[in-house]
Amino acid sequence: MSRATRRCGALALLLLVGCAVDQRVTTQRADRSAVTTDPAATPPTPPTGPPQTDPTESTGPGGPTSDPPATTDEPGNTVVPNDLLNFGDDKPPRDYDEFLALALADVERWWSEQYPVLYGEPFEPLQGGIYAGYPERTDPIPGCGPDAETTYDELQLFAAFYCPEGDFMAYDDGESGVLFSLTSEFGPSILGVVLAHEYGHAIQARAGVLAAEPATIITEQQADCFSGAWVARAASGEAVGLELTDEDIRSGLISIITVRDPIGIDQFDPGGHGSAFDRVGAFQAGFTDGPERCVGLIDEPLPLMPNEFTPSSTDTDGNADFGYGDGEVVNFTSNDLNEFWSSALADSGDEPFTALEVVPFDDPGSIDCDDELVGNEEVGALFCPSTRVVHLDEPLALSRYEDFGDFAVSYMLGSAWSEAAQTTLGSPLDAEDRALLSDCFTGAWALTLIPDETTGLPISATGAFIEPGDLDEAIQTALVVGDSSSSEDVLGSPFEKIASFRAGVLGSVDACRELLPD
Ligand SMILES: [Zn+2]
Repeated sequence: MSRATRRCGALALLLLVGCAVDQRVTTQRADRSAVTTDPAATPPTPPTGPPQTDPTESTGPGGPTSDPPATTDEPGNTVVPNDLLNFGDDKPPRDYDEFLALALADVERWWSEQYPVLYGEPFEPLQGGIYAGYPERTDPIPGCGPDAETTYDELQLFAAFYCPEGDFMAYDDGESGVLFSLTSEFGPSILGVVLAHEYGHAIQARAGVLAAEPATIITEQQADCFSGAWVARAASGEAVGLELTDEDIRSGLISIITVRDPIGIDQFDPGGHGSAFDRVGAFQAGFTDGPERCVGLIDEPLPLMPNEFTPSSTDTDGNADFGYGDGEVVNFTSNDLNEFWSSALADSGDEPFTALEVVPFDDPGSIDCDDELVGNEEVGALFCPSTRVVHLDEPLALSRYEDFGDFAVSYMLGSAWSEAAQTTLGSPLDAEDRALLSDCFTGAWALTLIPDETTGLPISATGAFIEPGDLDEAIQTALVVGDSSSSEDVLGSPFEKIASFRAGVLGSVDACRELLPD
């Protein structure tokens, strides 16, 4: 049921603590919010302080930086001066330059406050600076490893990286790079997420984490966590000169997913960053619980989902056919959901769960249901309690199938079955609370589709199983379905929906049932 993506073979050649880019990840947003993401219409929030970064503020209390690289400010390039940035000799001005300078200054300012508290030592600011890489650049970017220089082609593989040897960072500023395309589509906030992640690696170098050489996945989880903690600061209005919105947080989650590992790479391989499922979890832990939580992730890592569920998952397109016949995704998802819920609600005290049937529709006006449909049309699968039919928005299901993969359709159906389960359980919840419980239930169902870790055999009642990437397809669907603002409270924000789905995958139906009021 999965879509496979290519490996980045060059990873092992470079001694970088960087982030491999899965360029093929689908970041299309098929819903209404895509209309509002014209980058010109969503500039960074206007600075609340003076529009300049005081150079003294970017130097933490640990002492002055030694010869920071000079900032080359081209005439006509209206970027905020920042001692850390090395723009090189021919940098094309970018819409996000000012945001980048403000975000970097604030990330460093934040660490100058946090580091002494968290690690009990003075903070030493980044020594080697931050290099903007682009094809026109002739000023060298230092190498990281045996080579004297980092070429633009190498930088493009990583989008951004931190190099412990020279204590410097570099990011892809080129027009064909993934950061340029992500900022064009979603606004500049994703740069804050990416650079806060890389700065997290600089913190690991200072704290001795990198020297202890834990598995890469562990340091990546912590860097994602640190990034989430900084984004929470920026979203709460504490960052100097910028403030992130709910839409920015959604964009941040998209950027985390875009730089996930190619599916099928074991997360304990050198260079493994983890699936979107794991990376978003680490980001959310930092966002919700703050940087002290992230510090503890080295000794007590978050639970990780296997990124290689079965040894034999080597096909290049693991998607089941869309359809209603035997062995097609709508059909076997429905069968498995019926089995799952009749067994999950078989305990004493529960009403028995009667099987549901899927009826596709093109036109909502054609739906035949005498009572009120349960669910939300944004999700695209609505439950009719009197007929026990799930009405599936077929055009929407097909477009999500094309954009994300077959488990995006399974997520839609899983949500409708979860609504039916809530009806059976007499759930009094409505609106956002109800939608979030459905996300949790859908995650609990997905858990039963993960094959047994040792045998690789399916454990679900029908033998259905998910493959690497399927959980990420659910996460991507939750991202496009969620409310565009956390004040909307209809379906839950993407952040909340993903957290609930993850809670179900990690905790099973019992954990979800605790969300029901007594
Ligand atoms: Zn990283």
